[in-house]
Amino acid sequence: MASAAREGNRPPSLPLATLIGRELRGDGSERPLVRYGHSGFAKRGEDYFLVKPDCLRVPGDPTSAFSVFAVFDGHNGGSAAVFSKEHLLDHVMSAVPQGISREEWLQALPRALVAGFVKTDIDFQRKGEASGTTATLVVVDGFTVTVASVGDSRCILDTHGGVVSLLTVDHRLEENVEERERVTASGGEVSRLNLCGGQEVGPLRCWPGGLCLSRSIGDTDVGEFIVPIPHVKQVKLSNAGGRLIIASDGIWDALSSETAAQVCRGLPAELAGKLVVKQALKTSGLKDDTTCVVVDIIPSDHSSTPPPLSPKKNQNKLRSLLFGRKSHSSVGKLGNKSSSFSSVEELFEEGSAMLEERLGRNFSSKSKLPQFRCAICQVDQTPFEDLMTENGGGYCSAPSTPWGGPYLCLDCRKKKDAMEGNVIFWIS
Ligand SMILES: [Zn+2]
Repeated sequence: MASAAREGNRPPSLPLATLIGRELRGDGSERPLVRYGHSGFAKRGEDYFLVKPDCLRVPGDPTSAFSVFAVFDGHNGGSAAVFSKEHLLDHVMSAVPQGISREEWLQALPRALVAGFVKTDIDFQRKGEASGTTATLVVVDGFTVTVASVGDSRCILDTHGGVVSLLTVDHRLEENVEERERVTASGGEVSRLNLCGGQEVGPLRCWPGGLCLSRSIGDTDVGEFIVPIPHVKQVKLSNAGGRLIIASDGIWDALSSETAAQVCRGLPAELAGKLVVKQALKTSGLKDDTTCVVVDIIPSDHSSTPPPLSPKKNQNKLRSLLFGRKSHSSVGKLGNKSSSFSSVEELFEEGSAMLEERLGRNFSSKSKLPQFRCAICQVDQTPFEDLMTENGGGYCSAPSTPWGGPYLCLDCRKKKDAMEGNVIFWIS
């Protein structure tokens, strides 16, 4: 069955079993079309987005094409959002080993995304500006979708059958207990704004700085425990495709994931983004910057029709026709309540803020990397050079926690220690 579905030129009529297999497996034998639209309203002018539908993994090879979409919601000014829009993708790509296959590139992406986010944060902080930003970066390669995110700009997935799932995690101190514990353990204080008289108002914030987010890019003045290490999730859609909605909190504070998906279902991506923004404004008014990018991943044989997200009852009919009452037996296989239809295969998910877990685990690069290339900033160093910097630069005694990860240059090691709340002593 699998080999029949993989054959390049499909015969005019395939056996039903083969069609069902293709539908459910999404084995990538044909590349989907990617259509997109975006919309937004500015109140503070700190939201930015990125649309790059024509990236090539291998220069000059159109079969290695992939698309990138991103939303950046800045705070305390827009400079961190602008900087991330301009540099984040390049930093991610420079952390991907060269000369690897498509399969290897998809496997290398989660690690490269972590390196790229941290590198962007280090570079922005060097500028000495105070602003910060959320970053939600989405890589679409065939039917495989990889999402990396810090902050609270969400990416949701709407698949056939009307199942809506969240591909990001909100890094908000108010709602994320794990992140509150991490920030507190690293030396930050988490509490509400205290008015004179002791009255507490607003959401939980991190002090110093008073940020409501626990992860971001930038935010030099807030403390290193507000980390740029993204939650990363990689899924493979079925050959039926699906729709992604990537948006800043101006949308999600007004609309649930389900509502956002519902209001634009059946409409082409170009219109869908506008409709989601319109609905959010209708619900809550223009309280915040509001940015929305809609991406449709459409099977190439459906190219002339709008995104074929069929009404739920028809899909249920089809499902019960195919599977009888056993259709729900696959629910829960993914360990994710929201991905309740087996058409989405979860390939990877990791949200830890510990760099060792994100860079060091299960990593074996087939390409020959120089032994002392920093896993974050990709700078080559010799150990001797490193030692000289360490002695000459006044770096006295950083009590680094034992490090089982790959080689890091001195700057990136300092960053790692600071993010984990380890004290660094400096000679002035
Ligand atoms: Zn480095």
